[in-house]
Amino acid sequence: MTGPSIVWLRDDLRLADNPALRAAVDRGEPLLVLFVLDEESPGMRPLGGAARWWLHHSLASLDERLRDRGAALVLRLGPAERVVAETVTDAGAGAVFWNRRYGGPERAIDTALKASLRDRGIEVRSFAASVLFEPWTVTTGAGTPFSVYTPFWRACLAGPAPRTPLAEPRHVSGATDAVASDDLDAWGLLPRNPDWAGGLRDAWEPGELAARRRLREFLDDDLAGYDRSRDEPAAGATSLLSPRLRWGELSPHTVWRETLAGGHGGAFLSELGWREFAWHTLYRFPDLATDNLRPEFDAFPWPPLDEAALTAWRRGRTGVPLVDAGMRELWTTGFMHNRVRMVTASFLIKNLLVDWRLGEQWYWDTLVDADAASNPFNWQWVAGSGADAAPYFRVFNPELQAKKFDPDRRYIGEWAPEHVSENPPEPIVDLGETRKAALAAYEHVKQAA
Ligand code: FAD
Repeated sequence: MTGPSIVWLRDDLRLADNPALRAAVDRGEPLLVLFVLDEESPGMRPLGGAARWWLHHSLASLDERLRDRGAALVLRLGPAERVVAETVTDAGAGAVFWNRRYGGPERAIDTALKASLRDRGIEVRSFAASVLFEPWTVTTGAGTPFSVYTPFWRACLAGPAPRTPLAEPRHVSGATDAVASDDLDAWGLLPRNPDWAGGLRDAWEPGELAARRRLREFLDDDLAGYDRSRDEPAAGATSLLSPRLRWGELSPHTVWRETLAGGHGGAFLSELGWREFAWHTLYRFPDLATDNLRPEFDAFPWPPLDEAALTAWRRGRTGVPLVDAGMRELWTTGFMHNRVRMVTASFLIKNLLVDWRLGEQWYWDTLVDADAASNPFNWQWVAGSGADAAPYFRVFNPELQAKKFDPDRRYIGEWAPEHVSENPPEPIVDLGETRKAALAAYEHVKQAA
């Protein structure tokens, strides 16, 4: 008797193409499928509000799917190293399976746990699942990590192709009675008093089946127009897969294979490449959310924080149409179009001279797709301090961006209608003057370089 096996799910809330789950099912012992909410281990960043909302619904949906197949999800709260070790003891488990993570605190937990469980004679197996190419497999000829996207992606594509996705198990023999589960509602992931999630509910359906439906719909209806329209926020031309990938309701392998099967999708697939690049960058620089990747940016002379300006930005009350529209789309739906993310981030950093970390934190709290790699990576990209970043002196002009990408002001009209009225509000800052001030401040970085 070896006891049940534990599959510890983390950012991989799916049954299909889940290598840890597949291997555990194939091992043949009854399964305990575990999810641990860990906001206590050193360095673990508490989830933002929108992410908590998504997580609640994704877990509920996964539990339902597991129950259809003979198992159920076991929920536990607390520092993962302790909680997983205890669950192994309580269940008398003989093996633990998980898919690998690439953030610093997560790797520290997983490494320690792997060692301590193996010391106890427990089998531990980990798998690649959340990225197409694992960070240590893609390096320059000199063995160093890439710092520029184009050669990075070329090297990825020159290596072994991403594997074929694995079928989802038809039956999962559950060992659910082995340990008690927390009550999901008691975790309090959903907002109450006030319940601000109405816009999220209208915009999204979390869960694996909805994710798969959205992938099919995107490939059938939208992919052909993606290259042409993906920069237009009103066009609805992008995949909206980011939260599904963030929570692992879909694997990147599935997205990759199904896109290729349709015979096109180069530009779309190279966006998945940016996701890979962000994760590889986080793997090398675990402090991506707090430290400038390019240390010369430490010399940037941020002025004392203008709280009123930051609040106006968060609420979409800057008087700049595209910025206001984007910030309100974000607040209402937990999402913002990529082009508008760039424009709103640039406005905060370069026109309001607010440190990128404060913008990153707001996105972290409000995005349903907020992830530990893509969010800080892209903030640093806009700030100029990151990997293969936009040069600091390239300041997005939100008026020109709106003219180019929202020419009929459909997006602005939808989210910030006062800007298409007779009496539009005035911008809180002069775009030209603040741009000059930003470039003057940047001189300090140049001198430090
Ligand atoms: P599509 O255009 O359909 O792209 C397909 C997939 O490729 C996306 O789902 C995403 O997984 C990936 N992708 C596309 N662009 C990028 C990119 N620039 N970086 C990394 N991956 C990318 N994306 C997140 O997933 N989480 C974040 O927290 C996040 N924060 C961002 C912060 C800023 C300041 C900026 C400028 C961008 C951020 N992005 C983030 C990247 C990008 O805006 C979103 O991935 C994209 O808008 C999601 O929409 P989509 O799924 O329709 O994208």
